[in-house]
Amino acid sequence: MERSPERQSKKKVVAVVGGGLVGALNACFFAKRGFDVEVFETREDIRQAKIVKGRSINLALSHRGRQALKHVGMEEKIVSQGIPMHARMIHSLSGKQSPIPYGKKGQYILSVDRANLNKELLTEAETYPNTKLNFDHKLQDWSAETGLMTFVRPDGSTEDFQADLIVGCDGAFSAIRKQFLRRSRFNYSQTYIPHGYMELTMPPINGEFAMKPNYLHIWPRNTFMMIALPNMDKTFTCTLFMPFEEFEKITTGDEVIEFFQRYFPDTIPLIGADALRRDYFRLPAQAMVSVKCSPYHIGGTCVLMGDAAHAVVPFYGQGMNAGFEDCIVFDEIMDQFNEDFSAVLQEYTRVRVPDDHAIADLAMYNYIEMRAHVNSKWFLFKKYVDNL
Ligand code: FAD
Repeated sequence: MERSPERQSKKKVVAVVGGGLVGALNACFFAKRGFDVEVFETREDIRQAKIVKGRSINLALSHRGRQALKHVGMEEKIVSQGIPMHARMIHSLSGKQSPIPYGKKGQYILSVDRANLNKELLTEAETYPNTKLNFDHKLQDWSAETGLMTFVRPDGSTEDFQADLIVGCDGAFSAIRKQFLRRSRFNYSQTYIPHGYMELTMPPINGEFAMKPNYLHIWPRNTFMMIALPNMDKTFTCTLFMPFEEFEKITTGDEVIEFFQRYFPDTIPLIGADALRRDYFRLPAQAMVSVKCSPYHIGGTCVLMGDAAHAVVPFYGQGMNAGFEDCIVFDEIMDQFNEDFSAVLQEYTRVRVPDDHAIADLAMYNYIEMRAHVNSKWFLFKKYVDNL
């Protein structure tokens, strides 16, 4: 990839802590500007790993996420590896399926594979000669005064590294953010919702998708719900969201089948009774947390982005998308303030905090909307259509 000589002459060092979705993308943004970029990621290189641990298998990529990918020339590639979802497909208890479009004709969101997206972004970051990826580096501690960071390696040894700017992209349980918590006038709140989530796989039938692929399938059941997003290998990843106490009530394979028979009967032949009995107990349900904080920066040395700044509950499908948008907003402010970190970071907090907090609130609202209100909205819509 060609770089302009003017871009390559700058030598300020930017350390991106966390090589997840937002960190890997952010590395591309900083590298494009000609900084020396060092990414530090606690996990091994997921491109070589046999098993990629982490959260949801697939995610919904929408407009704001695509805009950020476009900025670093990645939009087309990622879109070509995603599956368009034009509408939600509501599954009633009787098995009836009814679509509710996301927007106007032709508008859609995309189901993308999380691990693949992360791998593609890391590979893209690596194409910049001024970027280095450091895997197996877990941030242990850092100083806001000096910018000195200490990383622990898998063998227990430690390594120090100093940067001009530290970008905390280390997710909802950010180690970078811990230093912020010790400082005066830092606002912070975190809320665990009573629901957990569990992922189940719906395999292809005769080599084809078991349900219509270009939809985000939803089984809204008021206090809980299941959704399913399509994957490129013609499977669906079904995610069951339910209060932890309900998950815990189900303790045997027969109880799993009874539960599905009562609430999601149409999915039993599609997922398979044996798979359901087995997979329900494979992993415990996972928790979901919403984190709000402000400011997002300390002086001119450190800034938080992505889930490290604003973890949101997943019901609005905007966590990653908002994190990707953080990167564009930051990049625009870098232009406005001539890459003067002190001024840029302050402005970034001013502009970004209200928008990210709004996304967190909308996600909380959609937590109820998706599992309960779509039922009643559909009811009203159907009544209207029936009366036409
Ligand atoms: P992460 O993806 O958490 O990455 C953080 C990285 O930092 C990881 O690689 C981690 O290993 C590394 N790290 C952590 N600690 C350290 C340390 N001490 N030192 C070095 N590295 C460290 N969003 C959407 O936009 N659309 C969706 O459809 C969607 N669906 C979701 C479904 C579920 C079930 C969940 C839980 C979330 C969903 N999200 C969705 C939200 C999305 O997953 C997150 O917003 C996104 O992963 C945030 O990216 P990130 O890079 O900020 O954090």
